[in-house]
Amino acid sequence: MNDPILPGSTIGILGSGQLGRMIAISARRMGYRIHTLSPETDSPTGHVADREVVAAYDDVEAVKRFAADVDVITLEFENISAACVDAASLIAPVRPKGSVLHTTQNRLREKTFLAEHGFPVAPFRHIKSRDELVAAVDEIGTSAVLKTAGFGYDGKGQVKIETAEDVGSAWTTMAGQEAVLEAFIDFELELSVVAARGLTGDFAHYGAVQNKHSNHILDVTAAPADVSGAVNVTAVNLTRKLFEALDVVGVACVEYFLDRDENLIINEIAPRVHNSGHFTFDACVTSQFEQQVRAVCGMPLGSTDQPRPAAMANLLGDLWANGEPDWTSALAIPEVKLHLYGKQEARPGRKMGHLTAMADTQEQAVERVVEARKSLDSTL
Ligand code: AMP
Repeated sequence: MNDPILPGSTIGILGSGQLGRMIAISARRMGYRIHTLSPETDSPTGHVADREVVAAYDDVEAVKRFAADVDVITLEFENISAACVDAASLIAPVRPKGSVLHTTQNRLREKTFLAEHGFPVAPFRHIKSRDELVAAVDEIGTSAVLKTAGFGYDGKGQVKIETAEDVGSAWTTMAGQEAVLEAFIDFELELSVVAARGLTGDFAHYGAVQNKHSNHILDVTAAPADVSGAVNVTAVNLTRKLFEALDVVGVACVEYFLDRDENLIINEIAPRVHNSGHFTFDACVTSQFEQQVRAVCGMPLGSTDQPRPAAMANLLGDLWANGEPDWTSALAIPEVKLHLYGKQEARPGRKMGHLTAMADTQEQAVERVVEARKSLDSTL
């Protein structure tokens, strides 16, 4: 069961977006074959896969056929139904396993797990009715954030409550769905730790990185984070303990708030490679994508050394508003790397690609990547 899955074998990826694409690029470089399953066709992962299977995630028969053709299954999208993962697990190992997905694909379950295992989380309450929301706002106080319990990412399905008067409209926004109310954290910084855990419990991490969001979507990551050594060590140790508690196999990301008293509070867990780890593709000896391949195939984890500071800036569809971005000007800047995901339609807010820049310091890397992104739009 724990024998390594060697190059030449086939890795199945559930999901077919840019994360799967970058896993596939790393896997193919190492001689693995890649199959991807998702409802999409002509997908970012499909472009670089050996086989693109188009099926709904809850099409259990299609998932079983998919599983029969691969040696191991991983995922790049965590909101896969338990029925799908259970069906696949009977045929091929699924890494990370279904219980990790079950815990992390629902905010309420995730926060309850974290609190029960002694991890730091913002005070929260489970909300099933308007009356419960009124009582919870009274207990937790304002500001607070109301979030749908399940299936939300990039800030979707959440609303801030500034005063008790906001309760009515906030509850209406939830449209009767179960929700979680959590205290708003007046944070100094948002950090994340991307790390990997192998089949035998070995662990490798990329240290704490610093994230800036815009409209709830990740905008820029700077690596390493500008925090004290103590904060970095605490973030890494919390991440390691959490991976052990969840029994993760593969790469995952833990997002943190650093409050003004230097306390770390866990915001959420992504049980997969993460946007805030994209810089590792260019900046680290082993990228998060290669690390995912190594971890799920039971191979030794690779060095996470990062020779130079780096920064990553996302390229959203909005950048195409004035026509095709000016790639030549961005690529003329030293140590800037371009990644495009092969998506045909550039919709506002859609992640189309990213830029990475390396430099002597983290601040210079951020300046460089932001300058490179600005240079893409010749109308600015
Ligand atoms: P989420 O989808 O829960 O990761 O939230 C997206 C973004 O909203 C976070 O990265 C924060 O910038 C902000 N946010 C979410 N929850 C809170 C909170 N409790 N306190 C402060 N900011 C928050």
